[in-house]
Amino acid sequence: MSDENDLPPKMRASAQQVPPKPKPRPQDPVEQEFWNRCQDGHLYFQRCGECGTFRHLPRYMCAKCGSPDFSWEQSSGKGTLFSWTVTHQALHPAFAADIPFIAAVVELEEGVRLATRLIDCDRDKLELDLPVTLDFEPIAADFRLPVFRPDTNLPDEG
Ligand SMILES: [Zn+2]
Repeated sequence: MSDENDLPPKMRASAQQVPPKPKPRPQDPVEQEFWNRCQDGHLYFQRCGECGTFRHLPRYMCAKCGSPDFSWEQSSGKGTLFSWTVTHQALHPAFAADIPFIAAVVELEEGVRLATRLIDCDRDKLELDLPVTLDFEPIAADFRLPVFRPDTNLPDEG
């Protein structure tokens, strides 16, 4: 019997290690393609080959015209804050060090919305339509997630 097993389960070293953040678990090839494409540091969305409408979540048919033809188009990475919530509770131990964090829905210039995280943003600066820009958070040596930060490189208005 090792010393570790003399300890209560929550005090064992194995229980003290922070697990890695979970990766998305794509349900089909077109969703897998979305995440694979993120790994080059850009964001791509499907665009209908028939009517030109962008779409997200990934799917096989255009919701507007029903066409199965599409291409993957690189997003500008620019958008605005559509909705958010400040999360104070880590429902997975990998996120414990991040709380409170801002879970957000961003509307991209292409017209699609993406559930994501807003980073490097003071909570008192949060407002609807806040301009945001794409960044990536590495969560494993071989995997990164698209996140957004306030866009501070906007031209001055007026
Ligand atoms: Zn279409």
